[in-house]
Amino acid sequence: ERRIARKPRWLLQPLPQPAGLKRMRGLLDELHLNTVCEDAGCPNRGHCWNQGTATFMILGNTCTRSCGFCKVITGRPELLDLGEPLRVAQAVKRLGLQHAVVTSVARDDLPDGGADAFARTIEAIRELCPGTTVEVLIPDFKGSVEALARVMEAGPDVLNHNVETVPRLYRRVRPQAKFDRSLFILQKAREMRPEVHTKSGMMVGLGEREAEVIDVMQALRGVDCDFLTIGQYLRPSLDHLPVEEYVPPAQFERYRELGQQLGFTHVASGPFVRSSFDAAAALRAAAEV
Ligand code: SF4
Ligand code: SF4
Repeated sequence: ERRIARKPRWLLQPLPQPAGLKRMRGLLDELHLNTVCEDAGCPNRGHCWNQGTATFMILGNTCTRSCGFCKVITGRPELLDLGEPLRVAQAVKRLGLQHAVVTSVARDDLPDGGADAFARTIEAIRELCPGTTVEVLIPDFKGSVEALARVMEAGPDVLNHNVETVPRLYRRVRPQAKFDRSLFILQKAREMRPEVHTKSGMMVGLGEREAEVIDVMQALRGVDCDFLTIGQYLRPSLDHLPVEEYVPPAQFERYRELGQQLGFTHVASGPFVRSSFDAAAALRAAAEV
């Protein structure tokens, strides 16, 4: 096994401005909301918040699944918080966000997997912040077409669902998920609302090969997925999967070019790219096409 030295220089980033962090933290505490930006200690906070983007995590912070890369705790989730959709919309409004991303843990305990909460959050943001674009980053709803339809009816601008890694690594990385089921969700979303952009993303540095990444890109284009994100996997703790490789910036650039050749409208590929990184840029690119 290849030895991994310290993080390379290209993975060192300046911290966001303390004033911006404090304002955000105060608002989130007041409205009892979780963001991925804060919970994951995302290195892009300074960038995203300055650009008017943030990612809210609805439906609690306890997940029914246990992916090998993810910092979220596994367990029995909390009761549904029926006031949460409105509070997310209030936060979006007070922060003046141009683009709001809404995601959740996997709620396999709920009959609809949390789809109704996603839909009500989209509806609340539409109502309070008509100028804000909305992206939902959904779990796979165990492949439920009904659950997906509830979300699509609410009309997000972007339907995002991450395949996360190449199929060969699913057992280790996403044991409760299936690559084909994730593709199916993206395909159905496209069929239900052709005007809604679909998006997916993956982490690299988990031991995948370039040819496998290209196969995934082709599979995503096969279901007419518009936007793609590719970023470096970073190990949240020693209990999580090890980093197999720090993928060099030139390789990310290569993935970006390959993705564009395959016909994605927008590809964000780089060491710091996260699913929601610069999400508004993809919409701008789509508007120019
Ligand atoms: Fe938040 Fe996503 Fe930006 Fe990270 S990349 S700061 S999680 S919006
Ligand atoms: Fe983390 Fe999502 Fe996996 Fe849950 S389903 S463990 S939130 S990646």
